[in-house]
Amino acid sequence: MQEIKTPRKPMIFYILIVMIVMMLLNIFLFPRMLSPQVEEVDYGQFLQMAENGELSEVQVTDTEIVFADNSDPVNYYTTGRMEDPFLVDRLKNAGITTFGSPIVEEMSPILSFILSWVLPLVIFALLGNWLMKSLMKKMGSGGMGSGGNFMSFGKSNAKVYVQSTDGIRFSDVAGEDEAKELLTEIVDYLHNPQRYAEIGASIPKGALLVGPPGTGKTLLAKAVAGEAHVPFFSISGSEFVEMFVGMGAAKVRDLFKQANEKAPCIVFIDEIDTIGKKRDGVGNIGGNDEREQTLNQLLTEMDGFNASKGVIILAATNRPDSLDPALLRPGRFDRRIPVELPDLQGREAILKVHAKKVKIADNVDFSVIAKMAAGASGAELANMVNEAALRAVRAGRKFVTQPDLEESVEVVIAGYQKKNAILSDHEKIIVAYHEIGHALVAALQSHSAPVTKITIIPRTSGALGYTMQVEEDDHNLMSKEEIENKIATLTGGRVAEDLIFHSVTTGASNDIEQATKLARAMVTRFGMTDEFGMVALETMSNQYLGGDASLACSPETATEIDKKVIAVVKEQYAKAESLLRAHMRELNSLAQYLYQYETITGDEFIDVLQDTLKQGKDEANAGSEGLE
Ligand code: ADP
Ligand code: MG
Ligand code: ZN
Repeated sequence: MQEIKTPRKPMIFYILIVMIVMMLLNIFLFPRMLSPQVEEVDYGQFLQMAENGELSEVQVTDTEIVFADNSDPVNYYTTGRMEDPFLVDRLKNAGITTFGSPIVEEMSPILSFILSWVLPLVIFALLGNWLMKSLMKKMGSGGMGSGGNFMSFGKSNAKVYVQSTDGIRFSDVAGEDEAKELLTEIVDYLHNPQRYAEIGASIPKGALLVGPPGTGKTLLAKAVAGEAHVPFFSISGSEFVEMFVGMGAAKVRDLFKQANEKAPCIVFIDEIDTIGKKRDGVGNIGGNDEREQTLNQLLTEMDGFNASKGVIILAATNRPDSLDPALLRPGRFDRRIPVELPDLQGREAILKVHAKKVKIADNVDFSVIAKMAAGASGAELANMVNEAALRAVRAGRKFVTQPDLEESVEVVIAGYQKKNAILSDHEKIIVAYHEIGHALVAALQSHSAPVTKITIIPRTSGALGYTMQVEEDDHNLMSKEEIENKIATLTGGRVAEDLIFHSVTTGASNDIEQATKLARAMVTRFGMTDEFGMVALETMSNQYLGGDASLACSPETATEIDKKVIAVVKEQYAKAESLLRAHMRELNSLAQYLYQYETITGDEFIDVLQDTLKQGKDEANAGSEGLE
């Protein structure tokens, strides 16, 4: 895709540069060119030179003495006029007879005025003119731009994409089939409007792509541009918000004017939440007028043209809940296209798309990687493939291998391995018990995702170790038991520390946070407690950006909620504790094993676990035999 940009810097930028250059010329260059250099010296030097007969010309004024020496070319000096009664005698002795007339020629004031002020202005005007012309030429070829006024602040900075062979196509966007289907319809409409007109169907004026960051919203819009064969105006919401008041609205106007001229075409407004936020009217006295004006202008423009002209507006946001309802009402962005985090198949497909860009071993199993990367966005998956390629280069390999990819998943999830992390022996054994605590509790419960890897190699993210569990397939629904087991698994690390060392460490802070979140959601959002039943006690906003929960209940209920959350976590803690107490032998042998090898796979974990269990049974049998 070719991208034609109008210059980003406004004209004032060039004007400033020219002015600065002129000022510098005025200060440093012109004076030297225009009048000879005159050196200021001490009166003593003047006397010395007079005595030595080195003077050729002298001019005495009321305040200073200007004199020239007899070298070739002549050097000029100046010195202050002293109270010197012998001055005239001295000069006569030195052979100077005239000292009243000027020796350094002053430039005529008119000439100096022309050189230092008029000339720069002329140069400046010519330069500006030339800039303007080349600018107009560029805009002409891009099919944009209107008017030739010098100060074009109000222009929209929309980039125009024109169709070309190297553009992004729908095939570059993996997964997201529903979104692609909906967008394909829009593209189709732009190509065959009469088919829709015959039936009387009207195509939506605008479509809003919503989804978490990195799921490919911007990518999809670019793919539309690549497929549509019509002009594509792309602008980011933040570009509307300008330094100068009123410019945002002017930009919107300009953008739509251009779009109307180029119809059929597509206008894409990325990150529309920057201008389309709710106008709540409170708490922002004066501050948000500018944004509000911009939004109003946008609404007006969207109403002002009809889609039959063939202008379709796409927008993207990851904060749909914060958008002004006026934007979402029918006739504006009435079609919402969800762009969700990819599922298992989607992740595999995205990995494959990005793997095409790197050299990769034939035997790489992308489904394994996709499983490991549960919850990753398209952008993260793209990043993983790149990390793997970097790792391959570092290792001096010619292509990317499976372990490269697996390690890169961990890098993206947990950060790099800390090469020389200082973990004392004592800390290492604590971390080993902590991680085995998680893994063992998970393994001892049904409805838990299998453990695939345990490591106590610290990561740059700050994790001292972690236990990786990989779901067999994607979950959309979670049962109450599953959530409870998850909380129990999260408490497992702390439980193990407490059981073995009878003291607890800070290492569980992240576990605590996650367990609390889950327990709270059970109580307030999933209706999983008898006390509250199916009552929504919290509302979520910002669902795509981590989610902010806000309480929607009375303070008394809030207190009850807190009590219940604590009870849920405590219950699961007790469950984990009884599980681990019953398997102290396994806990010990697994922790020692992990301490020794630092990283173990899920299979090794199961092997050691089963060995220890069998050993325990044998001993128990032997013990009972011995009794007989
Ligand atoms: P968003 O705009 O939703 O935040 P982007 O469209 O900017 O995300 O995606 C960032 C990058 O992530 C893309 O350039 C692409 O490399 C990768 N990516 C995201 N989603 C996908 C996908 N579905 N297929 C292929 N690549 C994707
Ligand atoms: Mg984006
Ligand atoms: Zn932990």
